[in-house]
Amino acid sequence: MAASAVCDQCGQACVKGDITTGYGIDEDGNRFCFRCCGVQDRESMVETGRAVLYLAKRNLSDGELAHGLMFSVGPGLGRRIGTHEVTNWPGSLRFRTWGPTKGSHNIAGSRYDVWFIGPDAEAWWGVQYGDWTQICHCKRLKSNGDAAQDVKRWARRVGLLTDRLQSKVAARVRA
Ligand SMILES: [Zn+2]
Repeated sequence: MAASAVCDQCGQACVKGDITTGYGIDEDGNRFCFRCCGVQDRESMVETGRAVLYLAKRNLSDGELAHGLMFSVGPGLGRRIGTHEVTNWPGSLRFRTWGPTKGSHNIAGSRYDVWFIGPDAEAWWGVQYGDWTQICHCKRLKSNGDAAQDVKRWARRVGLLTDRLQSKVAARVRA
């Protein structure tokens, strides 16, 4: 195999990692660098309102840890700073989540629900079934529903949803 591939989208060399090829392949055999994978995944989320992402624990910064300690005085509030995130496969697209909250599932045994602000500045919900996977099935929530409003309130409080982000998304839609 060649040492590095060239991205079919942007023409840059794909940077090979220790355990990764440095590119993703679509069904036609085109190769895309991780940056372009992120752009495509973002566009696809905005377009379809759905995504298959991976749920993982984040590495928290010192500031966030301090913030979390402050928050953790109330029951369940610690998780609301976004201790977890959902990402695309190369990790070039990331969204901090509210949750996961653990529930039970009749086949998988357990389920983990998360909520986050997607690339469209809208509220999204994701669910992972069972403990032996990180795959998280994500869906955009109805914009004016109660769940979406709750998620947006949380996101505003922790600084994930800002006026700047909303006007940036609005500008992209107009363009
Ligand atoms: Zn590229």
